[in-house]
Amino acid sequence: MSLHRLYRGFSRLCGLAQGPLPKPGLRALLYHAVGTPLPGEPCGTSISAGLFARHIEHLDSLRNVFKFRHFAAPGSDSPCLALTFDDGYRDVLAAAAPLLAVRGIPFTMFVVSDFILRGAAPYLDEAGLKELARLSGARIGSHGKTHRPLTALGDAELREELAGSRKFLEDLLGLPVTSISYPYGSVDRRVRDAAQEAGYVLGGTSRYGLNLPGRDPLLLCRTEIVAWDEIEDLELKVKGRWDWYRFRHPDPAAQNR
Ligand SMILES: [Zn+2]
Repeated sequence: MSLHRLYRGFSRLCGLAQGPLPKPGLRALLYHAVGTPLPGEPCGTSISAGLFARHIEHLDSLRNVFKFRHFAAPGSDSPCLALTFDDGYRDVLAAAAPLLAVRGIPFTMFVVSDFILRGAAPYLDEAGLKELARLSGARIGSHGKTHRPLTALGDAELREELAGSRKFLEDLLGLPVTSISYPYGSVDRRVRDAAQEAGYVLGGTSRYGLNLPGRDPLLLCRTEIVAWDEIEDLELKVKGRWDWYRFRHPDPAAQNR
């Protein structure tokens, strides 16, 4: 938490130096759980339901600046926001989806196919995922088969994580599944190309940043929102003031082929 305060202060200073914002492009926000306690989890993965509701209210108030879009390749028309949720927590169906539906805010949920198959809390089971997928505004993508860092895997295992999870989800939902979020943001050129080979057209990384027109759609940046992000942090993140934090994840789009 104290580190978070330090980072917030630095982000405020970045805002002073950056000048007028926002620019055309797509900023994808990355949430995980909404309201479910995850004891011992140090990364702020589960935001409280009350704070999430305030986040959505605030984001909704920015409609004069940002348009809400599905997670997609960025266009050049206007600054856009896309909401994504990783891991497939049940509370997204119970606590987040209703708030988003009321306001007509689209979102994409990236789920781990073996977690869905197992069906154990705190993750959605098959029935829950089908219910979520039927909601207007909801889209489902893959987050791998077993939630392992993909860059560490051999070719056969990598194929199974990518193609296996996609097939499971498509068979279950009867819908095309063409987007993936790379677990732990673990992606390089080889993983990106394997994802394309497996039929994906959109990929979400964990690298902070605005996706400008022309960005590789299989390597889209996402800005993570954590449990201790107050409205000021959300505002700073949406406007790119936290983008300095991208140093944590090298840009796979900058790797040589
Ligand atoms: Zn994950």
